[in-house]
Amino acid sequence: MDRREAVLRELNLYPIWVRRDRLAPKADDPPPAEVIAEPAPPVADKLRSPEVSTGTDTLTVVPNSMLDGLGWPELKQRVHDCTACKLRAGCTQTVFGVGDENADWLFVGEGPGAEEDALGEPFVGQAGKLLDNMLMAIKLKRGKNVYIANIVKCRPPGNRAPEADEILACMPYLRRQIELIQPKLIVALGKVASNALLGKEATLASLRGKLHDYCGIPLVVTYHPAYLLRSPSEKAKTWHDLCIAVKAFKGVS
Ligand code: SF4
Repeated sequence: MDRREAVLRELNLYPIWVRRDRLAPKADDPPPAEVIAEPAPPVADKLRSPEVSTGTDTLTVVPNSMLDGLGWPELKQRVHDCTACKLRAGCTQTVFGVGDENADWLFVGEGPGAEEDALGEPFVGQAGKLLDNMLMAIKLKRGKNVYIANIVKCRPPGNRAPEADEILACMPYLRRQIELIQPKLIVALGKVASNALLGKEATLASLRGKLHDYCGIPLVVTYHPAYLLRSPSEKAKTWHDLCIAVKAFKGVS
């Protein structure tokens, strides 16, 4: 069994069944499903002040002008020193993000878990392994043209979801990361990341299967790897989402 087959098995995508009336699909082929693109925002500088849903209302984040013009070293230091929300008091360290700082692909999760908090890197442990396999399935690799970050940089206690005020406090750091990376495509992993980046409260099911837009950057929504570990039957849907991402990426490359 080669590595690719192993990855496809991990994603519950092997063996690949072939309909008689179709040519054999390649694993990296985009799906036949129609991709529905949402309209791009009228101004590029919306990047600086996207809206974030609190669950009941939609608030506009006050632009954090203090981050304007910051490069990577200064931004990392700001995050390292940050105490802007209550999460900092309960975590071991901030988890800034990892990967190629000029990456075309940006994957955004929710927040650090226990292992990420201990190691200072996003998506380690079993969820990280699954994310690595998802990357491998679309011929990507952590750290190579890929950057991985979270909505909040500090671990929420008990692995709860970050609260609205915590997301509001932390989003300026992610916005500045996106400004610096200038990715060609964003993949939002899970509902929290999707809602925060798209600025609306919506179910993951309603957001999947479409091409969205974050300030002119194509954005695809899929399940968080930690959820997939609990619900492996959803892995096939994730593959579909990743195929949408690959198709969208080809369109902007
Ligand atoms: Fe600062 Fe973000 Fe950590 Fe809150 S979660 S303390 S805003 S770095």
